[in-house]
Order: sequence, then structure tokens, then C-alpha cells
Amino acid sequence: MTYDVVIIGAGIVGAACAAECAREGLSVAIVEAGIIGGGATAAGMGHLVVMDDSEAQFALTRYSQQLWDEVSDELPREVEYDACGTIWIAADDEEMAEAQRKARFYSERGVAVEILDEQSLREAEPNLRPGLVGGLRVPGDSVIYPPCAAQFFVDQARERGAQLFLGDAVEAVDADGVRLRNGTSISAGLIVNSAGSWSPLLTPGLEVKKRKGHLVITDRYPKFLRHQLVELGYLKSAHSSTADSVAFNIQPRRTGQLLIGSSRQYEVDDAGVDPSILRRMLERAVEYLPGLRKLSSLRTWTGFRAATPDKLPLIGPHGEHRRLYLATGHEGLGITTSLGTAKLLVAQIMNRSTQIPVTPYLPARVPQESLHA
Ligand SMILES: Cc1cc2nc3c(=O)[nH]c(=O)nc-3n(C[C@H](O)[C@H](O)[C@H](O)COP(=O)(O)OP(=O)(O)OC[C@H]3O[C@@H](n4cnc5c(N)ncnc54)[C@H](O)[C@@H]3O)c2cc1C
Repeated sequence: MTYDVVIIGAGIVGAACAAECAREGLSVAIVEAGIIGGGATAAGMGHLVVMDDSEAQFALTRYSQQLWDEVSDELPREVEYDACGTIWIAADDEEMAEAQRKARFYSERGVAVEILDEQSLREAEPNLRPGLVGGLRVPGDSVIYPPCAAQFFVDQARERGAQLFLGDAVEAVDADGVRLRNGTSISAGLIVNSAGSWSPLLTPGLEVKKRKGHLVITDRYPKFLRHQLVELGYLKSAHSSTADSVAFNIQPRRTGQLLIGSSRQYEVDDAGVDPSILRRMLERAVEYLPGLRKLSSLRTWTGFRAATPDKLPLIGPHGEHRRLYLATGHEGLGITTSLGTAKLLVAQIMNRSTQIPVTPYLPARVPQESLHA
């Protein structure tokens, strides 16, 4: 069995990379140890969001969002694409100043935004508590159901001839390709490690750490919410790389359900639900939406984000292993940035120029001694 490319992992990132490689006419093998989109992709929120922690993060999220917009008409119903937009909520004057800064940053770069005062925030989302200062509406953001999107991209790849090895884990990457736990060898010109938070197990020394998150989904309450709502205080908690944190982040699903997040924890391997974190997370949500207290939740789960030290993904050649490429480390934005990642990866494989500068995401930016600790 010989392929141009073998992709390890069929989460949203591996699936998008497989579809893009197959579109280029490359022969592709996809190896998925579990089920398609069953890793962080199943655990995530599916918010397709433009972010501005850094110019590089903005460039990749914006580029990816444009790619999602292009593909949105082709997405099957079960992907539940919903262009609901985001409202970033300012609870005090400091957060309102941040909303203004964000508004300037986005509009200078061509992203449509609207500043909301207290009154217009109430009109946009009547269930929010009174007394919030205002917010920033980003109407171009949207929401999907990620596992079905991963399945869609795997199906696209297979329609173009890709071979799927499902339920087989890659045990080792070797000079020739990969060896599966069941003893099968797959030889390939290139190997793409897109195994998310598992990627360091196959490529030791990668600076990718697990960052645990909790989510809760409610029963169906259509019209309770219209936008994805995120507190601007979220930025403070998302930036902390040591302490456990929770932040108000809630999403209306096409089904009428509400998906409530989110938490961030480092150095936690246990996938179990942590009642104290869960309580903090829900109390935070109720502070913003008091009516949530009366609603029923159906299920709670956790997942692991794959975090890099500079919060940017690793996209491109490994550096030392000649045939190995990386597409991992997408932390809390991998659903959004999967499509940009696939384009940047394939452009590098095909030796073509890229739509946005690729340098900030190259694995080589991470010192070699970190790649091979
Ligand atoms: C609580 C939470 C909320 C989030 N919310 C959002 C959001 O709103 N928007 C957003 O953009 N992102 C969000 N994310 C982040 C997003 O979910 C991830 O960045 C994204 O799913 C990563 O996709 P992936 O394909 O890299 O990894 P995964 O989905 O984890 O896929 C990796 C795959 O590799 C497979 N695998 C592992 N080892 C092997 C092996 N040895 N052989 C073969 N296969 C293997 C696994 O089975 C898995 O299917 C969130 C994440 C969490 C945890």
C-alpha cells in the first residue's frame, strides 16, 4: 500500500487536510484510531469565529472563515451551519473600551462590526441581565456541528479516491510511512500528523499540551438566544496559561438547544467532569443570563484542546523528519482554522505560494531543542 500522503487522525483538521490533498489529485490514506470527528472535534463548540489575539491569529481565523463562507452552501443539513453572529459582551467600562478597540481592529481589516450600547444589547438579546454596559456584534461569525463537518470532508476525500483506515491506530511513524497497531504498514511519500492532542505521542518532543474544557448542553429552548454570546472577560481567562479558568460563552444550536461553555485547565489528564469547575462555569453563565437557572441541561462532557506555547498551530514540515508534516496544536480554534490549515499545508506540499503568510505557523518557529526535548 503506497500513497502520496498518509493523514493521521480524522478530526476536523485531518479531514480538511485529506479533502484538500485529494482535491489536488494526491493519493491519500486517512488513518483514524477511533471514529471520524470523535476527538476534540466532537467535544468542541463549533463557533467559527474571527479572533485577534495576534495578527497571525487574526489572519488565519479570517482566512478560514472566508473559506467556510465559500463552502457553506455545500454543507449538508446535519452540519447545522448557522450564520448567527457573535456578540462580545462588555460588563463594565474597561470591557467596553476593549469592545471599542476590537471594533477598530476588525473594521480596519475589513470585518463588519457593530458597537451596541446597553439598550441595543438588550434588544439584541432580551434574556441578558440588565446593567451590562454594551457589546460588539460581529455578524459574520457562525456556528456548525463539527463532527458532521469532519465526516463531510472525509466523504469529499473518499469521493476523490482517498482510502480510509478506520479503527486502526498508527503505532509509529517510520522512514517509509506509518505502521498500524494491527501490524499493517502503509508507505507514503509524506506523512501528516494531525492527531490533535495525541500528536506528541507519535512525534515526541512536540510542544503540544492538553488543555481541558467542559461544556453543557440544554434541552430545546428555541428563541431563548439569537447570537453566540461571549464575555469580553473571556480574553483574560483564555490567556492564562497556568490557572484554571471559566468564562461565559454560550451558543444557540439549530435544534433550539443551548451549548454552554467554557472552562480551561492545564495539567489535567483525567477526562472526567469536575463538579467544582462545572459549578463555576454555570454560575458564570447564570450571572449573564439569569433565565438559564430555569432550564434543563441534558448532558455535560469534557474535551482536550491541543495547546502550543504561543497559541498558534503548527502547520508545515517537521524540519528533521524529511517526510513528516504537522497540522496540530489548534487549541480552542481548530474548528474555525481547519480550512485555512488545509490550504496552507497543501500549498507547502505542492511548493506553491500561500494566500496568507505561513511563517507564523511553521513548526520551525519553535526552537529545535523544543521539538526534540
Ligand atoms: C470545550 C472545547 C470547546 C471548543 N470550542 C471551539 C470553538 O467553538 N471553535 C473552534 O474553532 N474550536 C473549538 N475548540 C477547539 C477544537 O475543538 C479543536 O481545535 C479541533 O477539534 C482540533 O481538531 P483536530 O482534528 O486537530 O483534533 P481531534 O478532533 O482531536 O482529532 C484528532 C484525531 O486523531 C485521532 N488519533 C489520535 N491518535 C491517533 C493514532 N495514533 N492513530 C490514528 N488516529 C489517531 C483521534 O482519534 C482523533 O479523532 C474547542 C475545544 C474544546 C475542548
